[in-house]
Amino acid sequence: MENLSGNSEIAERFGDLHPPLTAQAAIAEANRCLNCFDAPCMGACPTHIDVPRFIGKIARENLRGSALTILDANVLGASCSRACPVEVLCEGACVLHRYNKKPIEIARLQRFAMDAFHRAGGRLPLKSAEMRAEKIACIGAGPASLACAAELRQRGFAVTVFERRALPGGLNTYGVAEYKLPARASLEEIELIQALGVEFRYGVEIRTQADLDELEREFDRIFLGVGLGAARRLGIPGDEHRDVIDALEFIARYKTAHPPQVAQSVAVIGAGNTAIDAANAARRLGAENVAILYRRSERHMSAFAFEYEHAKQEGVQFQWRVIPVRIHVDASGIKSLECAQARVNEAGVLEAVEGTAFHFDCQQILYAIGQSPLLELLSSVRGIELSNGRVAVDRATGLTSNPKYFAGGDCVNGGREVVDAVADGKRAGVAVAQAFEVVHA
Ligand SMILES: Cc1cc2nc3c(=O)[nH]c(=O)nc-3n(C[C@H](O)[C@H](O)[C@H](O)COP(=O)(O)OP(=O)(O)OC[C@H]3O[C@@H](n4cnc5c(N)ncnc54)[C@H](O)[C@@H]3O)c2cc1C
Repeated sequence: MENLSGNSEIAERFGDLHPPLTAQAAIAEANRCLNCFDAPCMGACPTHIDVPRFIGKIARENLRGSALTILDANVLGASCSRACPVEVLCEGACVLHRYNKKPIEIARLQRFAMDAFHRAGGRLPLKSAEMRAEKIACIGAGPASLACAAELRQRGFAVTVFERRALPGGLNTYGVAEYKLPARASLEEIELIQALGVEFRYGVEIRTQADLDELEREFDRIFLGVGLGAARRLGIPGDEHRDVIDALEFIARYKTAHPPQVAQSVAVIGAGNTAIDAANAARRLGAENVAILYRRSERHMSAFAFEYEHAKQEGVQFQWRVIPVRIHVDASGIKSLECAQARVNEAGVLEAVEGTAFHFDCQQILYAIGQSPLLELLSSVRGIELSNGRVAVDRATGLTSNPKYFAGGDCVNGGREVVDAVADGKRAGVAVAQAFEVVHA
């Protein structure tokens, strides 16, 4: 875990994209807020943080109060302040846009309050003094499970989180770009949840029916916060080469272990946010030439427009309507990626256009072409319905078709944002608690 213990090279190359506000700047920015009565910013936040309220408290220099307002709605308020695509959420909804003014810097204000809370050794408050007998298991230690676990623990339930990796946080720790959310900051935030008394068991992968039977015997309810599975391989000749790497693993490695060796020229396949983050990381780790190759056109890419612009500024190139066909390798390693131009045929299927083959010279290939949900695990759970490979739930509660199981986050929504996973986890936590409260009433 060299990086977490302070790898100066990574810190230098992945400095803050949005540096923290000074106290003076934060108070001045907080005082710009119009404190709108209908607060569209609050409605645009999936966790409905009371934005005017927390900003008002910063203006009055009540930083602890401000942080508690944030945490009441979103227990991962610190990581969301760094990772959220606020341009399309709270800041995008700020009424100042209507007056052609710069929106309030809600994310940086949120980070200001949360940083102060962490520095002062703040603790999460309990929501009930009563200790309850019911035991809840959360599978996965990503944002969805963390929010569910915190909510239930704050209400007095005994909660155990099972995580296959060595560290908690899911993609907050292992996936989100380091210049937005350093792994260290993700882990610091989780210490608050650990301090509540949530038990974490690391290196435990729940993957067989026997594992689930055991959990079902020990726990009253089980929350599935398993995220998405591994990326699909390219499935073309040469893709078994060691320098053809899952983009997510590449990111996880630089964030939590030794920085991976990058080649001079790197091809990244896919055009979602994972591909963009991996391409930016390859550039920052020293690759001279990084190109994202995508089989469809610019307007089909799933990455946000601002992420696309950012990648171009990082020096990433883009090639559209390109299908990888074969990887050429010799004894020294990868030589090139053979591609062809792509077109949609009459049946609506993408196909390579004959006679358009070209070689993209590269020594490393990162692939990020969608991820497949952990079907093995979920299909082994009796009676849990899936829809398009995702867990089908009641959106208001996160309840699955099996009354013992709740679910939320990427494994339900197919891959959205940290804040959506937190909202799901909290909603499920509240629903589980209410179900038992009704039973005991
Ligand atoms: C590269 C990348 C960059 C991103 N950047 C951003 C960003 O900048 N901003 C943003 O808001 N969102 C971003 N996202 C999306 C965001 O990270 C996810 O939406 C969010 O983390 C989903 O949370 P989750 O808890 O559902 O799943 P995850 O974060 O994936 O957590 C799932 C956890 O479950 C564990 N697990 C899985 N199966 C098992 C099992 N069988 N047994 C035990 N443990 C298991 C996994 O190891 C993992 O720790 C990014 C995603 C990626 C891939």
